[in-house]
Amino acid sequence: MQRVERHIITKYHFNFKQIDHLCFLSKNLYNYVNYLLRQNYFENMKKEKKDKVWINEYELVKKLTAENQVDFRALPNNVSQQIIYQLFKNWKSFWKLTKCKNLNGKPDIYLNKYDTVVFINGCFWHRHKGCKRASTPKSNHGYWIDKFEKNKARDKLIKSKLKKLGFNVVIVWECQVNNLKLLNKIILEIKSYNKV
Ligand SMILES: [Zn+2]
Repeated sequence: MQRVERHIITKYHFNFKQIDHLCFLSKNLYNYVNYLLRQNYFENMKKEKKDKVWINEYELVKKLTAENQVDFRALPNNVSQQIIYQLFKNWKSFWKLTKCKNLNGKPDIYLNKYDTVVFINGCFWHRHKGCKRASTPKSNHGYWIDKFEKNKARDKLIKSKLKKLGFNVVIVWECQVNNLKLLNKIILEIKSYNKV
């Protein structure tokens, strides 16, 4: 089902002015609601009222109606609701991202829509099994073996922590980044990952 249509118009289009104005109001509402959420978060964090740091969408709409907020009033109801919905979605994705960033291993790509994190790993440092780039230097052999074992253990730990948080973890190896056929296959796999 197609629910979104994209039309590209120039400023000479007969609806341009109206659409431009609606975009302006939408931007204002987005920023204002964002400001409200941030203020509420910081104020209640300071007061250590952790259960109140987050307003839900319903409370927010109630607040905007009560104060007769100018942009909220000027926009059609479903548009303002959609803006609030988008903002909440962005915040949710932000919190999720901070969660995975706290794990010492920062994913290279984070795909909120698919609950998926992607690591692009160097074959040498992360030991791509069977890959010719994952050679072991002859000198200082013991040092390298020890280093590689530590890297592998660290990767494994980060992967299991992310999985516990509900992420689908995908590894793309350095030697694979130019292989379009393989990348397409990985993309299809990511898209078929079912959100929990
Ligand atoms: Zn490789």
